[in-house]
Amino acid sequence: MARYTGPVCRLCRREGTKLFLKGERCMTGKCALDRRSTAPGQHGAANKKMREYGVQFREKQKTKRYYGLLEKQFHNCFVEAERREGMTGENLLKILECRLDNVVYRMGMAESRKEARQLVLHAHFLLNGKKVNIPSISIKVGDVITVAPTSKDSAKFKELAEGLDSKISPKWLEVNKENLSAKVIALPEREDIDFPFTEQLIVELYSK
Ligand code: SF4
Repeated sequence: MARYTGPVCRLCRREGTKLFLKGERCMTGKCALDRRSTAPGQHGAANKKMREYGVQFREKQKTKRYYGLLEKQFHNCFVEAERREGMTGENLLKILECRLDNVVYRMGMAESRKEARQLVLHAHFLLNGKKVNIPSISIKVGDVITVAPTSKDSAKFKELAEGLDSKISPKWLEVNKENLSAKVIALPEREDIDFPFTEQLIVELYSK
């Protein structure tokens, strides 16, 4: 599947908001959006007024890029969200938040969701004691995610472990900083997702 390989800061400038795609750098003065907030391209600085479709489309793109998904993957999540009981928009965000790669990122074991996906793909994690390499797996209450014993002593995970104290984990995850594991104590609710999404716009877009 083709994945975007261009400069990721361009995506933040396109969406006009920080998508936190580069880990620590996003928090520093080196953030490209802080230095230049206009959209990329020759006419990026032009003050263009978006129509209804444009606003909905940009919201979908922002959400998709924040979670690092391709169009097809994102659409599949939407189909699943529609199938479930409750509000489709909220269901969608909960489905995205419950992806294993996002959980690894939320537990502080990766600098970005992209890195989390790579680490999962390379089987650096165990899910309930078994090796996994599927970033899209959906976690459930009671699941335990652990760094694989063979990976714990690597320089990468030692470095990540040292930075864990400065990271705040979500209340639905119980992170054990000693053994580099996390237990899912509840499923994330809409109010636990602190990024400013307007999920209703995505629902309206896909309902056209
Ligand atoms: Fe986005 Fe991070 Fe780049 Fe800033 S540094 S533009 S938040 S990816």
